[in-house]
Amino acid sequence: MRTIILGGGIMGLCTAWALHRAGQPVTLYEQGPLPNPLGSSVDQHRLIRYAYGPMTGYARMVQAAYQAWQRLWQDLGVCHYQETGMLAVARTDGSWVEASEASMAALGLEAERLAPAAIAKHFPFLDLAGARAALWSPSGGVLFAERIVADLADHLRQAGVAIETECTVQSLDPAAASVVLADGRHDQADALVVAAGPWTPRLLPSLAGRVTPSRQVVAYLEPPAEHLQAWRQAPMLLDQVEAAKGGFYAVPPVGGTGLKVGDHGFTLRGQPDQERDATAAEIEALLAAARGRIVGFEGYRVSRGQTCFYSVAQGERFIVEPIGGRSWVLAGFSGHGFKFGAVLGEAVAAALTGNRAPGELTAWAAGELAAG
Ligand SMILES: Cc1cc2nc3c(=O)[nH]c(=O)nc-3n(C[C@H](O)[C@H](O)[C@H](O)COP(=O)(O)OP(=O)(O)OC[C@H]3O[C@@H](n4cnc5c(N)ncnc54)[C@H](O)[C@@H]3O)c2cc1C
Repeated sequence: MRTIILGGGIMGLCTAWALHRAGQPVTLYEQGPLPNPLGSSVDQHRLIRYAYGPMTGYARMVQAAYQAWQRLWQDLGVCHYQETGMLAVARTDGSWVEASEASMAALGLEAERLAPAAIAKHFPFLDLAGARAALWSPSGGVLFAERIVADLADHLRQAGVAIETECTVQSLDPAAASVVLADGRHDQADALVVAAGPWTPRLLPSLAGRVTPSRQVVAYLEPPAEHLQAWRQAPMLLDQVEAAKGGFYAVPPVGGTGLKVGDHGFTLRGQPDQERDATAAEIEALLAAARGRIVGFEGYRVSRGQTCFYSVAQGERFIVEPIGGRSWVLAGFSGHGFKFGAVLGEAVAAALTGNRAPGELTAWAAGELAAG
């Protein structure tokens, strides 16, 4: 059974990896280079954590996600993950932290409420004045996203998987599992997997009402010398996350990467291949959020701001669905999909080879099932 995969982000590459492991031939088309800096998967880091507020299905999926990453590290011969732990802070509405605490307890994971004095002692570089609640956990950490994408693409090429870069799919037919390429070639296989990130609505207009590209801005900061070591040992910070509203986050500078801040709040505007430079106003809005959370923020240097695109779906629930009888679409990862790349690739490969029920997979990927 040969499968065409459209897209060389984490979802397409991981599906190719899992199909290849299952002995199935694959051809992957990517419109840019690999890694593609315009894709959603390409930046220094992506976070993986169990804290998921009321979305308990995803909290449970994280356990399976870690196991799948482990299998990928074995194949790559290198681990691209560093555990940092997590600090989740609530400033006004504490319900996301409370729900996370409950679901982590149900999963048997260590998580501890910290009092303001303890926070100030452990994390003196954070300004948590007025915080209502803080939850610390030793679990969770940083996936080195760009290194994963680059090494996985190299690994697949060396294993003989057909990967065509700079090769745009112009149109597709899910029922025939076929594509037409920009250079005029046609390709048809037994199955087609569409993993086109924020380009999905253009290729599959039927999903245009369900998946919205969303331009997001992140900034890399250089801490002052006196705080650098503390940041290198810091947990990831999730600050005032609220269901459907987003929240500020900081990724510590581990494993040779930079300190990054961002805001999970969706803009729901923009296109992934247009005007990709972050504007001064966009960066300033993000820095304003950082300023009130980081002690002595005027001592930090902003090394760069950049844009990246989410593909937002209703309720932040992933769309992993069969289409046209012979094809699958993986879309709507709503800014939290990377951590599940390996496990979702395995799951789709299992469905394509008849080893997983499509309906169950779709519900599980939407965060609705306990097992998986
Ligand atoms: C700023 C930011 C922070 C994030 N933080 C986290 C986090 O901390 N934790 C987490 O789990 N997730 C996070 N995410 C989300 C995560 O990165 C995405 O969910 C994930 O990378 C989506 O992968 P993908 O393969 O679906 O999409 P992409 O990586 O965008 O891949 C799609 C690929 O398809 C290609 N393509 C599109 N159209 C065509 C075509 N016509 N022909 C050929 N190729 C085509 C594109 O070039 C692209 O390379 C974050 C995302 C962003 C933007």
